[in-house]
Amino acid sequence: MLHAPYHEYMKRDYYEILGITKSASQDEIKKAYRKVAMQFHPDRNPGDRSAEEKFKEAAEAYEVLSDSEKRSAYDRFGHAGVNSTRGFNGGGGMNMEDIFSQFGDIFGDDIFGSFFGGGRRGGGQSGRGRGVRGSNLRIKIKLNYEEIAKGVSKNIKVKKYVTCNTCHGNGAKDKSSVQTCSTCGGSGQVRRVSNTFLGQMQTVTTCPTCNGEGSVITAKCSACKGEGRVYGEETVTIDIPAGVQEGMQLSVGGRGNAGERGGHPGDLIILIEEEQHPELQRDGLNVAFDLHVSFTDAVFGTSLEVPTIDGKAKIKIPPGTQSGKIFRLKGKGFPSINSYEKGDQLIHVSVWTPQQLTPEEKSLLEKLGDSPNFQPKPDKNERSFFDKVKEMFS
Ligand SMILES: [Zn+2]
Ligand SMILES: [Zn+2]
Repeated sequence: MLHAPYHEYMKRDYYEILGITKSASQDEIKKAYRKVAMQFHPDRNPGDRSAEEKFKEAAEAYEVLSDSEKRSAYDRFGHAGVNSTRGFNGGGGMNMEDIFSQFGDIFGDDIFGSFFGGGRRGGGQSGRGRGVRGSNLRIKIKLNYEEIAKGVSKNIKVKKYVTCNTCHGNGAKDKSSVQTCSTCGGSGQVRRVSNTFLGQMQTVTTCPTCNGEGSVITAKCSACKGEGRVYGEETVTIDIPAGVQEGMQLSVGGRGNAGERGGHPGDLIILIEEEQHPELQRDGLNVAFDLHVSFTDAVFGTSLEVPTIDGKAKIKIPPGTQSGKIFRLKGKGFPSINSYEKGDQLIHVSVWTPQQLTPEEKSLLEKLGDSPNFQPKPDKNERSFFDKVKEMFS
């Protein structure tokens, strides 16, 4: 079971963290991250907690901005758009394992590796090179207005690659068929010394024999043919925060396809779809409702029930209500996903003009037709159509 809680503590802007503009290219993002990561790397700032926090913060920013899907979700919806379980909840940020495994993908086996190589990146069993990362998985979730307004927890059966139960993901037939790689002695890395403009540098590269895994498999698991994963399904509980919108994407870290041979799983990307409401119409945070009242109700006034996204609400129609009048139910709209703001429900009144009349009705109305009270007399308080539209969008 997995939860992706929505959290509201303030986080710094990812672009600000990396010191780049919103239009930065992937190359600029990579360069900026490299710079910040070098500056705050724990090896260079031993025991400095604030440097460590900055280091983690930068890694998180990079993880999001380097992924075009996550970046566009972040651009549109802020931190809420990239809500994720692995890296981003609870304020702790990514853990060091994740960050160092990320380094392998970003910096490759270049000089950066040699600055901070060896011990940290290797990390023994959970070393960076293990297996192949699983791919991201996209699913659509359709939500009704009530679910969007309140937030909802959904149990979704997801068909995907899951870790093989027989070999627990390593792809080996049994324990004895996993052998320590003889080329690298199990570290997954080989070192070589090279001359650079900075002087002689020790460079760490991935072991070519075991591809950095540190071990080789001599006999494959028969259930998964050595892949470490099988096609199956998993029930994932997804906590959707209140206020999501059509087209929004939520990313749940680590719930995509399982990786091959123990590699990190991909992410589960959830695309939000809105179910149409039979009577209400969403307009950003506001909700619009067309109310048709009878001619007599408009004249005498009445009280009636209207649908809202949270059950029914009673409203009073005062005597003499004109067609086109807009009533506002404060706070009955959608909550904002990024703030405490809440929309309103706007009730647009249309007075129903009878389209068919019996002879009796006709003669009654004809008698009233000449009455002075039936002549239009809009007063100054009767706002123009233009003003009403303005108010609706204010
Ligand atoms: Zn297996
Ligand atoms: Zn090796």
